[in-house]
Amino acid sequence: MILPSILESARHWVRQALSPGGIAVDGTCGNGHDTLFLAERAGPDGMVYGFDIQQEALSKTRERLHAHGMTERVQLFHAGHERMHELLPSELRGRIDAFMFNLGYLPKGDTRVVTRPETTLAALETATEWLTPGGIISVCLYTGHPGGREEADAVLHFASHLPPGAFQVMHQQLPNRREAPSLLVLEKRNRPRSSSRD
Ligand code: SAH
Repeated sequence: MILPSILESARHWVRQALSPGGIAVDGTCGNGHDTLFLAERAGPDGMVYGFDIQQEALSKTRERLHAHGMTERVQLFHAGHERMHELLPSELRGRIDAFMFNLGYLPKGDTRVVTRPETTLAALETATEWLTPGGIISVCLYTGHPGGREEADAVLHFASHLPPGAFQVMHQQLPNRREAPSLLVLEKRNRPRSSSRD
């Protein structure tokens, strides 16, 4: 296959923005796959912050990081991502290279615990502010569970109203797979531009 899956694509774009020594946030640790990916990419001199509201998710993430010897470069918060602005070190404002969000429910976990539009939007608002110029935010959107469609619509509405001079926005979809996730990627432009041709 030449075309990447949605999850591979998310990592591909994040990798462009996050170099060794960089700073990243996993807004939804879940089983910890993306947290580990970010920790590997940030390297021993980088730092990764992870959020999840479920202890079960954080335990799985911690185990995975431990198995790869990466616990030292990661700080996990048992808290909702909507609280990022109070929990992240304030000196990181405007300096974070990448944020990853994988919405929906924890696979193999309690499917009733899902991310929700209001809190997801609050986190995205913070992420757009705290991102460094040239940084990337990836959001995997799921529509197959109750409330998923509404959340995806709310996130797409938010993204489609970001000023084009400040953010480049891309949405990758699989139109022949109705319930497959789609990927939203936001890139903060290096210099705000006002030209409507951008
Ligand atoms: N749907 C994806 C995995 C998503 S995991 C897949 O199928 O692969 C989503 C994680 O977000 C879950 O672990 C859940 O506990 C967490 N979550 C839900 N609300 C949250 C919030 N407000 N802040 C941070 N994490 C949250």
